[in-house]
Amino acid sequence: MPQSPWLNITDNSDFSIYNLPYGVFSTATRRPRVGVAIGEYIIDMAAVAGRGKFHDLKVPLEVFEASSLNAFMHLGRARWKAVRQRLIQWVSQENSPLEQLKGECLIRQSEARMHLPVQIGDYTDFYASEEHATNVGTMFRGKENALVSNWKHMPIAYHGRASSIVISATDIHRPKGQIMPKDAETPAFAASQKLDFELEMAAVIGKDSELGHPVLTEEAEDHIFGFVLFNDWSARDIQRWEYVPLGPFLGKNFASSISPWIVPLEALQAFQTDGPEQHPVPLPYLQKNNPRNFDIQLEVSLQPEQGEKQIISRTNFKHMYWSIHQQIAHHTVNGCNLRVGDLLASGTISGKATGSQGSMLELSWNGEQPLQMNSGIHRSFVEDGDTICMTGFARKENIHIGFGEVKTKILPAL
Ligand code: MN
Repeated sequence: MPQSPWLNITDNSDFSIYNLPYGVFSTATRRPRVGVAIGEYIIDMAAVAGRGKFHDLKVPLEVFEASSLNAFMHLGRARWKAVRQRLIQWVSQENSPLEQLKGECLIRQSEARMHLPVQIGDYTDFYASEEHATNVGTMFRGKENALVSNWKHMPIAYHGRASSIVISATDIHRPKGQIMPKDAETPAFAASQKLDFELEMAAVIGKDSELGHPVLTEEAEDHIFGFVLFNDWSARDIQRWEYVPLGPFLGKNFASSISPWIVPLEALQAFQTDGPEQHPVPLPYLQKNNPRNFDIQLEVSLQPEQGEKQIISRTNFKHMYWSIHQQIAHHTVNGCNLRVGDLLASGTISGKATGSQGSMLELSWNGEQPLQMNSGIHRSFVEDGDTICMTGFARKENIHIGFGEVKTKILPAL
């Protein structure tokens, strides 16, 4: 197992040598730039490139001095791979150029501030977990109509809002909006009483597709740079009143939060696994052989303002019915193009087991079965002062790869 002879990386570190995720960070004295996480450190890619160390790979300094990864992603997979190979080599070899430069080019993560890693163009939110769609459908429409007739024939999605996607550690105010109170005839304008999280993963698009030209399921991975954790905040009461006939709008677009480190697809390939069997067999343009899912363990914790942090959900990305390949094929089948920096969120990830649901709506069954917290309090939805933290990791034999966290505190409505 490759380790570093000169850098101490603990066995359970999210940021092992197998990971090498990309982010954008700043320090007290220097503006945002590109970095790669390793152990408790960040490799300052701009500082390394500034010493000519990526010159021969034809990776210009500007792409790492930029405040987003878009320019680096535009260079294409061959160059991403070359940089990754070089970093693996440098971290695992004694006396490597990176070891020699460690004083200037390694920054402690605790001394850095993280920024949105990508200038996000378009954001699409899927609805790809059969368990989640069944649970929500049962609550909104009754058990008989839980899955609508199109659900098993295509990955359902809607176009979201990119402007309100924020980085982990950004506090969010409880949204206000139109709500139809129970048994009322006219709506009220009020702060949401059913603020919720959605545990999702999002793919970052790293390669443009051409307008008018569908991407096949077999080509889909060519367009993926990597994945982040994604918390798609939702106001269930606003959503419920507005969603007919055109779907989600203000109940969804006030905020979504992402984790700062983009784990490259290359790092996740060892964790590809089979997805659930699909019945009925999808139309040919959606077919994708296994393995098409990723085995990534996920957790959500809730910490009340004056209470202890407690894990409230444990699930796995591998449960998703529709895979990212199928989502990309469906998204582009009509000729719609994807662009570098687009974000495709998976939809809420829920499992079958109790406690494996990826939203409070499901965990508390719309407030009918509030969660009993260790500190003696109850939670049906997210309250002011609560901090929601999502983490994720993949582990196999000695390989451990983590996503870090996406953590958000909810503040009272303004
Ligand atoms: Mn969502």
